Amino acid sequence: MEDCIFCKIVRGEIPANKIHEDEEIVVFHDIHPVTPVHFLLIPKQHIVSLNEIEAEHQQLLGKMLWLAPQLAKKQGCTDGFRTIINTGYSGGQEIFHLHIHIIGGKKLSPMIH
Ligand code: IMP
Repeated sequence: MEDCIFCKIVRGEIPANKIHEDEEIVVFHDIHPVTPVHFLLIPKQHIVSLNEIEAEHQQLLGKMLWLAPQLAKKQGCTDGFRTIINTGYSGGQEIFHLHIHIIGGKKLSPMIH
């Protein structure tokens, strides 16, 4: 996707503070962190949101969730973290390239609004 900011990060056209990269996934720090630890896992493939996933994406999504706790621990979240996937306009999604937020590094309140 030509104009997608996360595709540009995948292609190396704009900088990102990456903490992991493999053949399918890139992980980088959020540019506007809401907690001391805040990073994003994205597929290299342009998938718009969870609303657009197909059966063929099951392994990819599983790998992203499998990576999340490993990377969270490496970033200092040894006692837990929160996982957020905003989906679509009403879900608060702003970047329409599927991404998993990992936030933590402090005690979070039980509810999100
Ligand atoms: P959304 O509301 O779930 O779509 O969240 C998009 C996230 O991407 C926000 O937390 C932004 O701060 C973050 N973001 C936007 N542009 C960049 C960037 O260039 N690098 C890293 N994070 C970004």
